[in-house]
Amino acid sequence: MVDNQASDSPNENNDKLDVLKSTQKVIHTALDKLGYPDEVYELLKEPVRMMAVRIPVRMDDDSIKIFTGFRSQHNDAVGPTKGGVRFHPDVTEKEVKALSIWMSLKAGIVDLPYGGGKGGIVCDPREMSFRELEGLSRGYVRSISQIVGPTKDIPAPDVFTNSQIMAWMMDEYSRIDEFNNPGFITGKPLVLGGSHGRESATAKGVTICIQEAAKKKGLDVKDARVVIQGFGNAGSFLAKFLNDAGAKVIGISDAYGGLHDPDGLDIDYLLDRRDSFGTVTKLFKNTISNTDLLELDCDILVPAAVENQITEDNAYNINASIVVEAANGPTTLTATKILSDRGILLVPDVLASAGGVTVSYFEWVQNNQGYYWSEEEVEEKLYKVMLKGFNSVYNTAETRRVDMRLAAYMVGVRKMAEAARFRGWI
Ligand code: GLU
Repeated sequence: MVDNQASDSPNENNDKLDVLKSTQKVIHTALDKLGYPDEVYELLKEPVRMMAVRIPVRMDDDSIKIFTGFRSQHNDAVGPTKGGVRFHPDVTEKEVKALSIWMSLKAGIVDLPYGGGKGGIVCDPREMSFRELEGLSRGYVRSISQIVGPTKDIPAPDVFTNSQIMAWMMDEYSRIDEFNNPGFITGKPLVLGGSHGRESATAKGVTICIQEAAKKKGLDVKDARVVIQGFGNAGSFLAKFLNDAGAKVIGISDAYGGLHDPDGLDIDYLLDRRDSFGTVTKLFKNTISNTDLLELDCDILVPAAVENQITEDNAYNINASIVVEAANGPTTLTATKILSDRGILLVPDVLASAGGVTVSYFEWVQNNQGYYWSEEEVEEKLYKVMLKGFNSVYNTAETRRVDMRLAAYMVGVRKMAEAARFRGWI
């Protein structure tokens, strides 16, 4: 999963696997369908601001290593920008740009008062010590401090970042700002103003989408056979929620391989044995490849890892009636069309994974009012928001006769375009 399949894919050229290009293409079509003039596309096709930084960190062996980081702010017409920070060796400027555009779309779909932002640092946290990670997190915040803040751009966790990293970042920002401001960042530990339910929010949102999609397909989640690619934050919580709901999780995978049992895997055992980077399959001898995992016969397939996993090379071999994208960008545009033509219901990333930013928004609201909600309250509100988002995308797909991805983009761009128009930008 850490491997980008671009090079293994002889038929689908790199252009089609370019996540920025493909998201721009769908935005263009969505704006066209909604009847907006070309200026709107010109404004929305790229982030309004992109900062690239070099971060020096003193390593444990006393050497200094220089890391490259990015922060992209897609569009702030609706409100401050918002989105996670990813620590990963494959981070690129282009990917961070695309990810910030997806954040704008997510905020639009679930109707949050935000634009999209995203950050990334090229590094491998699996090879770094606790102290080195602290130095990197603090250095990143120092480098981008002028363009972020609780009413400007609010970071959060993403791939390989967690509540500890958010805590260091918040502490560094508070030192710079000489002010204790928990609303600077979300996904914090509870004791530092985090929200109940934030850690599992992405998976909760995905679960709600799965339940709704299953209803549309006349399927009962209780008896469904599910395959989940990726055992990180989203994938692992999702496996637990679906297992608890009575579904049979027959396949899971991590960056090193997959596990398959047609009778259902022992999810509690696997959760117990996974490390903090979501690795568990190394403990087993009988593993299957990620390629085989995606093609397993099942009812619901959830790619919850990285980009470009379902391409034109394997889309015809997908053996599920519902695909729910818990990861960002796991299916290429050609594969989206193949799945949709095959009658497979695809719930796109910008809708399915919006639960995380929704509870981040709740966290920010709680920080701003200094009044904290119970877990039940958070869950109830998340359910309402996700249900509304799902229905508006599904209904747009039905009434405009477009696939779910285009429908999601149409719902997602509308508020942004309107806000920019009212401000007199276009
Ligand atoms: N990184 C998450 C996402 O891609 C959450 C962002 C946030 O909470 O702001 O949706």
